[in-house]
Amino acid sequence: MVGTGSGVEMSINGSLPNGKSAEHLTALDEESFDPTAVVAEPVPEVVESNGDGEKEKRDIVLGRNVHTTCLEVTEPDADDESTGDKDAYMASVLARYRKTLLERTKHHLGYPYNLDFDYGALGQLQHFSINNLGDPFIESNYGVHSRQFEVGVLDWFARLWEIEKSDYWGYITNCGTEGNLHGILVGREVFPDGILYASKESHYSVFKAARMYRMECIKIATLVTGEIDCADFKTKLLPNRDKPAILNVNIGTTVKGAVDDLDLVIQTLEECGYSHDRFYIHCDGALFGLMMPFVKRAPKVTFKKPIGSVSVSGHKFVGCPMPCGVQLTRLQHINALSRNVEYLASRDATIMGSRNGHAPIFLWYTLNRKGYKGFQKEVQKCLRNAHYLKDQLRGVGISAMLNELSSTVVFERPKDEEFVRRWQLACEANMAHIVVMPNVTIEKLDYFLNELVKERSIWYSDEKIQPPCLAADIGSDNCSCALHK
Ligand SMILES: *Cc1c(COP(=O)(O)O)cnc(C)c1O
Repeated sequence: MVGTGSGVEMSINGSLPNGKSAEHLTALDEESFDPTAVVAEPVPEVVESNGDGEKEKRDIVLGRNVHTTCLEVTEPDADDESTGDKDAYMASVLARYRKTLLERTKHHLGYPYNLDFDYGALGQLQHFSINNLGDPFIESNYGVHSRQFEVGVLDWFARLWEIEKSDYWGYITNCGTEGNLHGILVGREVFPDGILYASKESHYSVFKAARMYRMECIKIATLVTGEIDCADFKTKLLPNRDKPAILNVNIGTTVKGAVDDLDLVIQTLEECGYSHDRFYIHCDGALFGLMMPFVKRAPKVTFKKPIGSVSVSGHKFVGCPMPCGVQLTRLQHINALSRNVEYLASRDATIMGSRNGHAPIFLWYTLNRKGYKGFQKEVQKCLRNAHYLKDQLRGVGISAMLNELSSTVVFERPKDEEFVRRWQLACEANMAHIVVMPNVTIEKLDYFLNELVKERSIWYSDEKIQPPCLAADIGSDNCSCALHK
């Protein structure tokens, strides 16, 4: 079934051998399929042959969805209820999928998701359609909600980021992106003619917000660490002094884990003549928003400084099985944004309508179990392990960088795309990165390092092929290429 475009299709990311179509799977005979058998090599194929045996890079082609690995939805047969065939088939698909998940979880290193959690106690809640639609602080007419958990979580973050209960407004979002969309929207509503400034290494959702809201957006250069370059910021701010400034400040950039210097950003604004009522700062803490408070010497994210909002992802460091996030802003700002909605009997100040009511309970559960001390311990462990990884890489002559306040290790992009996919590494230009999360142990890193070193010696066994130079990406001090080592 290639590209029929009909029905609901779910990618199973390669539990089928490459090239096998969905018909093969629907025809899968459950008697011949042993759900307890280990899936041999479920890593998706990345390279396609271009016909003459050459391996090609995987291209992202817009407008051509690839449906080679999908699980077709089929209509039940009339006798399904008596034979139980369909139930057995579906059970086998799910069992097989679970195996894939186990294997893929074991080999995950590239994305900043904490995969270490146990929410078994919350399984009992799956039977409820929990929905927090509307405002967290104003109950709607829909009674199956979890606002009591949501507000408890928000209060915890308010304490962390130092804002009084009576002064903040916030909600649990669907993800870090929604937090950015909301923060920048609040900024725009407060300053309708404001210009959005963001470093070029900001998350793509920031530029998406600018497009969605049709805002003028000015990109600021970055230092080699990935931090915003405040000298460039000043240059770009000065000619626009007649317009208010809306800023995205990164508390951990996506690729390099760089933390923008919030104090220097504020100082730059002040030096350019911006009083505190002429700018709005949104802090994108998707990645490190919950790690930074526990790192010594880290610049403090706090509402005692003139910031407008902070957001963080719930499925990253915190470790939630479904995407979610937290967004906090000042109560005074939210009135510029919200509308009362009679149909809800609540206030509409969120980006989404229906809101996942399970997510707040997962967050509440984790915050209660770990607490401030627990997160502190996990942060320390992540930073230690990240240093270990960087030292090991540099020790065997591989270019690598680790920002001081970060657990994101940037290193030479592995030459083999298959290897990249096997370890689910995120890559950009000549860089790959590993974000050391609480589930990443020294054992796992050693396993990875051994494999990398072994394979790398094959990739570069021919002297004519040299590892790439990363000086432009991470600085010559961190580069181990032939020229810079
Ligand atoms: C991951 C990330 C986001 C987006 O968060 P999602 O939860 O994936 O939507 C935004 N900003 C930064 C810096 C991130 O790392």
